[in-house]
Amino acid sequence: MTDPRPRRIAALVDGLSAAHLDGLLLTGLSNIRYLTGFSGTSALLVVTPRDVVFITDFRYQTQVMEEVGDIARVSIEASSLWTGLWNQLAGLTSVKVLGFETAHIQHRDFQRLVEAGARWQWRPTADLVETLRERKDEAEIARIREAADVATRALTATLPDLRVGMTELQVAGVLEKALRDAGSEGFPFPSIVAGGPRSALPHARSSGRALEQGDFLLMDFGAEVGGYCSDMTRTVVMGTASDEHRRVYDVVRVANERAAVGVRAGMTGRDADAIARQYIERAGYGELFGHSLGHGIGLEVHEAPRLARTAEGALPEGAVVTIEPGVYRPGWGGVRIEDDVVLGADGPEILTQFPRELIELG
Ligand code: ZN
Ligand code: ZN
Repeated sequence: MTDPRPRRIAALVDGLSAAHLDGLLLTGLSNIRYLTGFSGTSALLVVTPRDVVFITDFRYQTQVMEEVGDIARVSIEASSLWTGLWNQLAGLTSVKVLGFETAHIQHRDFQRLVEAGARWQWRPTADLVETLRERKDEAEIARIREAADVATRALTATLPDLRVGMTELQVAGVLEKALRDAGSEGFPFPSIVAGGPRSALPHARSSGRALEQGDFLLMDFGAEVGGYCSDMTRTVVMGTASDEHRRVYDVVRVANERAAVGVRAGMTGRDADAIARQYIERAGYGELFGHSLGHGIGLEVHEAPRLARTAEGALPEGAVVTIEPGVYRPGWGGVRIEDDVVLGADGPEILTQFPRELIELG
């Protein structure tokens, strides 16, 4: 595998000329990681057609040698990254008009640009790197595939240990230990474990509520491998499922399967969303599916593209997206089934290989 970073930087430079910018100041850490490999939490990056300048502090001296290497000119700052930035920019004589990342700059840092950085002209930009990140290369897909495998192995290890009487937080603890044991570098987001009526909250926080017989148990969690995330959800029943459990579950399961098999590169995010939404609407549960079908995953757990009623953009080949329909009946319970799918040239491939049939525990 050749180093993908020069190609990514060249693609960004193309975007800069199209936007009439002499350079771009990057403050978004995931974008910086994508372009340089740096996984730390303190850095500024300037990309121009001629130069790539990376500024960090002394804590990262060794790490920068390993991760960034000679893809950028590295400056280690003893005091402030911003002082380093002004010094570095002063050396780039042809650079006058610079973009900054509106989605990734704090207001106090923006004030630095217009005050201490007043000798340059600053232009707002959005999604210049995020757009490049939508289309994953082979190495990125391999990492997401491994993160998906880690998540499914962790769930397999967790299910036999779950009992009525355990709290949601205890279940989250068992699951998160299993994720670590399976090789996850971290948790892309706090695992959502929601039982009984709380499973009707699409974005519940795990609580101290104890699981009861006849509860739906919804688990939404992910793993991280090489900086790349997976994101999956399964919903099981504690004890024996009722007819009502099965009816709701099957609607979500079929919606998930249809969308996971039917989604294609080239389709709009809206049309992908409609595959699942129309099925759920025809089944009479449309009002209870209040969120969008899915989102891209990669260095971040929520990134472009979106699969939603308002997403007009086409899904690019190589994108990895979630398919996560749900039906939530307030006060009773809810079901979500979420899988990660790579949009290949020959069609979609599901990365989270784990059964979708309803599982009754205990
Ligand atoms: Zn999720
Ligand atoms: Zn998700």
